Amino acid sequence: MSVPVFYSPHYLEYNFGPQHPFNPMRLEMLLDLLGTLGQAPLSVEPPQATREEVRGVHLEALVRRVEAASHGVPLPDLAAYGLGTGDTPIFPGMDEATRWLVGGTLEAARWIARGEAREVLQLGGGLHHAQADLASGFCVYNDLSIAIRHLSSQGLRVAYVDIDVHHGDGVQWIHYEEENVLTFSLHESGRYLFPGTGQIHEIGKAAGTGRKLNLPLEPFTEDGSYLEVFQMALEPALRWFRPDVMVIQGGADAHYLDPLAELLLTTRGYAQLFRLLRQYSAEFSGGRALYTLGGGYNLDSSSRVWALLYLSLQNQPLPDHLPEDWLRRWGTRLGHFLTHTLHDPEGGYAEIPRRLEIEARNRQVAARMLETVRPYWR
Ligand SMILES: [Zn+2]
Repeated sequence: MSVPVFYSPHYLEYNFGPQHPFNPMRLEMLLDLLGTLGQAPLSVEPPQATREEVRGVHLEALVRRVEAASHGVPLPDLAAYGLGTGDTPIFPGMDEATRWLVGGTLEAARWIARGEAREVLQLGGGLHHAQADLASGFCVYNDLSIAIRHLSSQGLRVAYVDIDVHHGDGVQWIHYEEENVLTFSLHESGRYLFPGTGQIHEIGKAAGTGRKLNLPLEPFTEDGSYLEVFQMALEPALRWFRPDVMVIQGGADAHYLDPLAELLLTTRGYAQLFRLLRQYSAEFSGGRALYTLGGGYNLDSSSRVWALLYLSLQNQPLPDHLPEDWLRRWGTRLGHFLTHTLHDPEGGYAEIPRRLEIEARNRQVAARMLETVRPYWR
């Protein structure tokens, strides 16, 4: 049985302009690649999320500002809500466009809650930086938290796993005091990268204490070290927490080609990661898992990483070479050559002299994080 995919052409309307890294072209490129491979998804077209659904997580004050910005009303305090900043500029229709993305993630969650599917893929969304009263870091509304809140309102325990290279701060803060939501984010350390949070001592509050997990990783972390600490921390957390469903933010910006960050994951690392996530959901959450996309600002690597995610979820064989006509079409459009194979070529980046030091440091951080939260795992 194939994994339901949620997608609407309206997702392409979430567009901050041609100079902005969060470019809807990445979705077009991915869909074209899948189609050219003869794997075009038979997607479910989700309804747009309503204002009330957005209000399930976001404060009235923010929603009103987003609506005003969306319709060109120049309120004086938009910047205090994170709107009209360099990262999250205003564009006409931004409220409606974001509600399309939210609608997809929410509909995917409904399918899981109703038992219509176990694994689902939202081909978009993953807006993990938006907070209850703040748009931030390319994210206007938080589709993930709106979906998580729907799942937990149905009595389901949710484990949120964020593999985006940036800390999943919005999701963490929104559910910070919640007992039935575990959040786990691996990211390049906030000492070097936006949004600056996601340290190991951020472990939740009140009933949520010990249920918010962070692994801040060293810049230039490679596949081996990433996968080592991912398993070291996530497996015991899931074994203890016993979620009913996992929600996975599948950002592709930890890839070594990504221009916004300094982790060095390769497509082989991602393939392993996707295998582990599926293995964990089979073992710990009854196979229930909702995958979204997320950050990913190199079009070449992001389209390959997400093609890999899609093909793995559908249990389809992975092609070695990418189709010539797709390479030609997008090479011409982007004005540069694209990688010809699904996987990265050997020797994609220069050898890291500090490798052992980085691995030791990451291992130590994971061990300290586990020591900090374990006393609360009762
Ligand atoms: Zn990111």
